[in-house]
Amino acid sequence: MIDAIVFLGIQGSGKGTQAELLAAHIRYQHINIGDLLREQISRKTELGKKVNSTILRGDLVPDDLVFELIRTSLDQDCPGVIFDGFPRNLAQAEYLSKHYRLVRVYYLDLKEEDAIKRIQGRRLCPKCGANYHLLSHPPQKPGICDNCGATLITRADDSPQAIEQRVKAFFAETFALKSFFESKGLLKSLPAEKSITQIHNLVLKDIHKD
Ligand SMILES: [Zn+2]
Repeated sequence: MIDAIVFLGIQGSGKGTQAELLAAHIRYQHINIGDLLREQISRKTELGKKVNSTILRGDLVPDDLVFELIRTSLDQDCPGVIFDGFPRNLAQAEYLSKHYRLVRVYYLDLKEEDAIKRIQGRRLCPKCGANYHLLSHPPQKPGICDNCGATLITRADDSPQAIEQRVKAFFAETFALKSFFESKGLLKSLPAEKSITQIHNLVLKDIHKD
C-alpha cells in the first residue's frame, strides 16, 4: 500500500500551497483533484467528457469517477501521494483509508469570517487570466492588471451570496470528515492565519516526528 497524506481546508486557506511545498520536500506526488478534473476536460478524454456533462448539469462529480481519476493519475513509482481537494465526503474518506496507508491529515484551520474575507479579495484579469488578491497580492495600480493593463474583475462565482453559500457548505461537509479522521488519530490542525513558511515548518516538524 502506498502512503498518503491529506490536506483539508477551505478555498483560500493555503492548503494547495502547503501540499505543494510538502510534496517537493518529501518527493511525494501531489494530486489536486480540481486540476486533474480540469485537465481531463480540456484534453477531452472519455473521463473528461463524462465529468464535463456532470458538471454542466450542475451535479457533483460522482465518487466512482473521482476514484477512477485518481487511479489513472497515480505515479506507481512514487513512494507516496499528497491529496489536495480530496476526500470531500465520508464515502471518499473510507475509500482512502481502505486503499492507502494514511499517514496524516492536515487541516488548515481558518475561521468562517476570515475565509469569506480571503475569497472576497480575489480579482481576475479577464484578458490575460492573471490572478490578484487585494490583501496578499494586489496589482501595482488599483483595479488594473500589471501584465496587460486591462480592468480587473471579480469572478462570476465570487458574488457575496455565492461565497457565503460555498463557505457554509464547506464547513458543513468538513465537520464529518474531521471527526472521521480525528477518531483514527490522524488529524492535525494547523493555524491557517500564520505565514506560509511558519505553517510549512509546523508540518515538517510533525512529519519528521515519527
Ligand atoms: Zn491581464
